[in-house]
Parts: sequence; C-alpha cells; structure tokens
Amino acid sequence: MYYTSCILLILIVVLAIGKKKEEENITKEKEVEEINFESKENIQLLRSENGQIEEVNLNYYLLCVVASEIPFKYEYEAIKAQTVVARTYLFNKIINSVEEQGDVCDDYRHCQAFTDIEELKVRWKNKGYTDQEIEEGINKIKRAIVETENQVITYNNEIINALFHASSPNRTENAKAIWSNIDIPYLKSVENVEDEYYENRNSCVEISYATFKSTLIDNGYILDLSKDEFLNIRINEYTESGRVKDISVGAYKIKAENLRTLFGIKSTDFKLEVNEETIKFNVLGYGHGVGLSQVGANTYAKAGSTYDEIIHHYYTDVEIVDGYDIQMKRGEI
Ligand SMILES: [Zn+2]
Repeated sequence: MYYTSCILLILIVVLAIGKKKEEENITKEKEVEEINFESKENIQLLRSENGQIEEVNLNYYLLCVVASEIPFKYEYEAIKAQTVVARTYLFNKIINSVEEQGDVCDDYRHCQAFTDIEELKVRWKNKGYTDQEIEEGINKIKRAIVETENQVITYNNEIINALFHASSPNRTENAKAIWSNIDIPYLKSVENVEDEYYENRNSCVEISYATFKSTLIDNGYILDLSKDEFLNIRINEYTESGRVKDISVGAYKIKAENLRTLFGIKSTDFKLEVNEETIKFNVLGYGHGVGLSQVGANTYAKAGSTYDEIIHHYYTDVEIVDGYDIQMKRGEI
C-alpha cells in the first residue's frame, strides 16, 4: 500500500512536471510566433562572392546585418539603436541610388556587414553559445526590428548617412576630419563614454623599419626613407577630437586614416613609439570613430538610456521619423 501510494505520488509529480514542461514549450513557441517578422518589402542585395543580385526580404536583411554588426548579448536598447541605424543606412543607399548594382551589397568594407543567419548560428555555436542563447538573441533582434518598424533618422527632412563604428573611448570623430573636409552637420565629434570591458579597446601594431618603408613606397606615399628619417617620424597634427590627423615621414605628411587602412591599425587614436628597428602604434578604440559607437551605445543603454536617446546623442540635431514608407520613396525616384 505504502509503495503503491509512493508510486502514485511519483507518477502524479512526473505528470505534473511533464505538463508544466509542455506548457512552457507552448508558451515559448507562442513567443516565437508572436514576432510577425517579415516585411512586405524586398530589397536587391548584391552578393560580393558571385556578383549576383539576390532579392531578400527587407527585415531578413536587417536581421542579418544587426546580428553581424553587433553582439546579440548587448543591451536591448543598444540593439534597437543599431537596428534604426542599419535601416537608415540601407534606405539612404536606396533613395540616393548610391550603389552601382542593386540596393546594397553584403561587403562590410563598402556597405554594412551581412552574413546569413544560418552561418552566424554556426559561428555562435563555435564560440560556445547554447541553442537557447542563440534563439533568444535572434528573437531580441527580431523584436527590435518590429518595434522600430519604418523608423529612420533624418536631418532637415532628409535621410542621413548613418555611419557607425565599434569603439571610440573618449570622443567620436567629425566626419570632415576623415573624409574630404566636407562638413556633415549631423556627424560631429561628441563626448563618448565606454565600458572598459571591450576586447579591442586597446591594441598595438608593430611594424619593422623595412616593412614600413617598402609598404609606403609600394603604395606611392614616399620615394625613400632613410634610417635617420625613420627615427624622426613624428605625429604632425591632431584632429579637433584629439585623434591623429597626419604624421611626418621625412619630407612627407601621411594621413592617419591612410595608415589605418594600410597597416591594419584599429583606429587613428594612437600614440607612436619609434625604436631602432620598429615603429609601434599603441591604439585606442576600433573603427573610423564617426557616428554611433556600438560599445558606447551599450554603455549608455546599461546606464538607462533608450535607443532614441542614444541616437540623438551620436547624431547631432537629427529626428527619428516614424512611418517612413520606402515603397513610396522608391516611387518618387
Ligand atoms: Zn556596397
């Protein structure tokens, strides 16, 4: 009798747990279903791998871009800010017909990083994330896309060129300090606060005298570089935001932005150290430093800022417009 009641009790408990699990699963499935995610719009995506144009759903494009550009573990408001930025970036390309082929391409060096979500899932798994974490991460981005649907950033009623970068620990950079000296009123240097956890906050690139010299000669920046000239390399000028504008190499001035791309230096916020045989760049931050800083957005979000406050912080005097109809805009082109 005792055993029978025990078994009965265990059975009831097991059944109850089973039922609870079932309920949890139903609730979970429901949560996924509730994110009505597809946009009614498609876009033309140029695949750099094969040069083909692929038609993809607008919101699928945004999902892949946001998931490629920002860690899904970042704060939700930072992800929302990146989502509005990614949509604005895309719409600017479409409206101003920036691309030669298609609306946008998948190359991060030219447009925004775009990696298919299935490929990202494999990468995340390899990094040690669980299926549960990955699903939650993807849902977080989907929710951000749906919650900010049709929102874009404008300045003077025109869609902006929503540039962004990973990290600029002290200040962001003026667009004109880097590109063509043209003042872009909404891309001004602003104060920036960033958590110190970021893995690429500090980095260092050390190049030998021989490599430094030959790279600059091969790329047409200098004709020659004696050892004396090498040892006398100096920072020539800083930008208003305190980044390096250019350095003096012998009789030449070389733009820091060119050095950044030439030698894989993570940003132009660097200190120089020239030794007998090497030149060392001690670097702070990652990226060109213009527009939204992703690490900064995450830091502000942690401190309680909302996505619109984050956007207004990084883009000067802009508006976030709701209900932007890209189909209508396409019709006007
Ligand atoms: Zn492109």
